[in-house]
Amino acid sequence: NLAYVNGEFMELRQAKISIEDRGFQFGDGIYEVIKLYQGRLFKLEEHLERLLTSATSINLNLDYTVNELKELCQEVLSCNRTNPRSKSGSLYLQVTRGEAPRSHSYHDGIETTLIAYLLPAKSISNQLREKGVSVITIPDKRWGYCNIKTINLLPNILGKQQAKKAGVYEAVFVDDNKVTEGTSSNIFIVKNGMILTHPANENILGGITRQVVLKLARNRFKVKEKPFTACDLYQAEEVFITSTTKEVLGVTKVDDKEINGGQIGRVTTKLHKDYKEYIAKFKKN
Ligand code: PMP
Repeated sequence: NLAYVNGEFMELRQAKISIEDRGFQFGDGIYEVIKLYQGRLFKLEEHLERLLTSATSINLNLDYTVNELKELCQEVLSCNRTNPRSKSGSLYLQVTRGEAPRSHSYHDGIETTLIAYLLPAKSISNQLREKGVSVITIPDKRWGYCNIKTINLLPNILGKQQAKKAGVYEAVFVDDNKVTEGTSSNIFIVKNGMILTHPANENILGGITRQVVLKLARNRFKVKEKPFTACDLYQAEEVFITSTTKEVLGVTKVDDKEINGGQIGRVTTKLHKDYKEYIAKFKKN
């Protein structure tokens, strides 16, 4: 498993960065996770554009164009051709502001740290796929720029750990009684037959999967990008979450409340099927 670190490929276990890397000391960096289907990177351009947008948002001078980053991603794949991860895993890309003597402020001209390597496929059991997952709600105490895909993930990891401790799959942030998103997913509900999800503003990460699902959903259902409350979530006809690695995943329990009698609903099932078909077409093209 060869990892790319600032222009060089090396065994993942041997790959190291400086203890004065600003990513390590301050979480001063950004990242992307891009899913591989049959060795092809799904929605690559969208992920790379989001990476560039995240870079600009934190004034990080990422000296790469989308095309240069694309080439880099392909190089990671070709260097790992015999690794099953290069077929059905995902590609992790991270950029930090780079290595510099420790100081909160930074100066121009630090060389960014760019790393890329392959992650194994995330397995979601058939049981979870068919029965749906349970989630808990937690207060959203994050900062005001959740649209930036920063490596600063402390609230997200603490939330996910809380979910794990509670024996559930995901924790969902609620900010001022508005449901924003999961710790690593976007969340949708069906209310009065209408699909609702939080608008892609500074309170959530605008997921690439969210975008694909919205497009597919608009072909079949009424859809609104509008915040909904924790009460709406409890009373929803259906709930599902989306992400690059989870795709469309039904939620059948929120806190201690069952959704749709504990069954994945019709809309969720349909959308997951549409998403699978969309991917099947991508694989063929
Ligand atoms: N929100 C958060 C906080 C996330 O970490 C993720 C996963 N990266 C998502 C939403 C879903 O985004 P995507 O569909 O682009 O994977």
